[in-house]
Amino acid sequence: MPTTFHAYAATQPHTALQPFEFDPGDLGPEEVEIAVSHCGICHSDISMLDNEWGMSKFPFVPGHEAVGTVVALGEEAKGLKIGQKVGVGWSAYSCLACRECLSGDHNLCKTNVGTIVGRHGGFADRLRVQWTWARPLPDGLDVAKAGPLMCGGITVFSPFLQHNIPSTASVGIIGIGGLGHMALQFANKWGCEVHAFTTSDNKEQEARQLGAHYVHNTKRAGELEKIAGSLDMIISTINVPIDVPGLLNALRPKGVLHVVGAILEPMPVPAFGLIMGTKSVSGSPTGSPNAIDRMLDFSARHSIAPITEVFPMSKVNDALEHLRAGKARYRIVLVNDRA
Ligand code: NAP
Ligand code: ZN
Repeated sequence: MPTTFHAYAATQPHTALQPFEFDPGDLGPEEVEIAVSHCGICHSDISMLDNEWGMSKFPFVPGHEAVGTVVALGEEAKGLKIGQKVGVGWSAYSCLACRECLSGDHNLCKTNVGTIVGRHGGFADRLRVQWTWARPLPDGLDVAKAGPLMCGGITVFSPFLQHNIPSTASVGIIGIGGLGHMALQFANKWGCEVHAFTTSDNKEQEARQLGAHYVHNTKRAGELEKIAGSLDMIISTINVPIDVPGLLNALRPKGVLHVVGAILEPMPVPAFGLIMGTKSVSGSPTGSPNAIDRMLDFSARHSIAPITEVFPMSKVNDALEHLRAGKARYRIVLVNDRA
């Protein structure tokens, strides 16, 4: 019996999505099939849709913040049950045999496959991934808001694990968008002093409600100098060039500038900005399955959730335009309106 998945796809870069049906073939032994109820829209969906990173395959089905219910399990799929609520983020496969996978760093696996890289993503009624990457949602989480945690959330949570950030640290978040507004909540609940860096005056009050103790408008000259030598970690979530020398100067000795926003231009890093004060610049791609589970538990325990704007999946093009226009407050979630 052929199976039909109903999705939304673009046939070429920079074009609108259209209804798209495909036969996914037989369910692989390690695969799990999910009936998608909701899917967040990450800025990376737009970068992939525009083939900004040169790795998109068309027809292209975006969507890598999907949540839903397990409806089928391959014979080697482990740890999941039919009917269980799960979430899927950027990754869909990893080899499970390399040094990185065996160390628990599955997101760093050389053969890691992205959910929307050469395969069809979560803007669809069904999605298949390797069991490792379908993470069970804790009971305390609202399924309608859990999608954005799966990519945006984990991307800004894992730097806290990676750099062993203590609760006494001062942390800065650059860009109060999808990732940044979740980062403010994580940093605050982690116990840190939280600084938000924004280019939008109208986000100041909400940034404070989300957990920022200080808000800096980076369009105003001199904002970084005022806090020189005071931050232990800065997470940059924006995809436009950042003032690396100025940001290194805002760090305390041993501080780290952690980049998760996909800036396309090379970043000019001054050697003395690193040497004097033993500072570093780092980056990371989303997070491991274990880090995702810890982030989901942390979110459930501290009532952390994205602020969402909801669009029916059939209105996906309106939703994408809204995000492109910089109007999303703060993460768009598509609700599957296919019965
Ligand atoms: P988003 O919702 O569009 O938010 C980006 C924010 O950047 C905006 O809200 C805005 O914040 C700021 N910004 C936008 N244009 C700017 C400009 N010209 N100058 C200065 N600031 C500007 O995007 P997102 O979904 O959070 O994604 C952010 C980035 O992270 C993207 O590049 C995405 O591809 C990347 N990403 C990386 C990973 C990873 O694994 N490393 C995972 C997910 C996403 P303000 O209004 O506060 O200035
Ligand atoms: Zn993403």
